[in-house]
Amino acid sequence: MDQAAERLAEVRGNIAAAAKRAGREADAVCLIAVSKTHDADAIRPLIAAGQRHFGENRVQEAAAKWPALRAEASGIALHLIGRLQSNKAEDAVTLFDAIHSVDRLSLVQALAKACDRLDRRPRLFVQVNVGDEAQKGGCAVADLPALLADAADAGLRIEGLMAIPPADREPAPYFALLDELAERHALPLRSMGMSGDYPTAVMLGATHVRVGTALFGARD
Ligand SMILES: *Cc1c(COP(=O)(O)O)cnc(C)c1O
Repeated sequence: MDQAAERLAEVRGNIAAAAKRAGREADAVCLIAVSKTHDADAIRPLIAAGQRHFGENRVQEAAAKWPALRAEASGIALHLIGRLQSNKAEDAVTLFDAIHSVDRLSLVQALAKACDRLDRRPRLFVQVNVGDEAQKGGCAVADLPALLADAADAGLRIEGLMAIPPADREPAPYFALLDELAERHALPLRSMGMSGDYPTAVMLGATHVRVGTALFGARD
């Protein structure tokens, strides 16, 4: 096996083990390989090893890399996991199959318009600022009910919640909080867990984990 296939097998094994410990099915967890900053040559071996879901955090970077890669393999799904400016909503809806960073009314409105105009419905997650951090994206926990209501009013179907816990804290309580918020609002999907903590996230209900470093190695 090449290195990409080895890393992929290891991450998939860890997901399966964590799912089993929690009494969950491993295939209830979608592994998103976060390919931001990595070029096509770094991404191709993972595609060859069978990986199909990829995450990027910038629309422009994704637009430069993925149309060509997509033409090389079938079944690729692209996830936007970074902050989205409202004026890039149309580009994002055109390119991505899922958007994990819906976090404010102006973006909800821009996405609703873009989805209608393009007649495309990417899967949508509301990002929640679970650690209440000033510099971080995501809607405040207290504002979540209103934002979900706004999305419903705009005709947008939100299917899940996404969070990035504070970097310097034990993540489990934040994963549990996101799971509880999703449950409370009857949302089936939870996007949580990165290279350092995805097994914990899986045990606490993640349906989507976003793993970069553990699959690609360190970013520059
Ligand atoms: C970069 C990034 C990841 C992946 O982080 P790793 O620690 O490299 O696994 C996951 N989620 C988001 C939102 C990111 O920006």
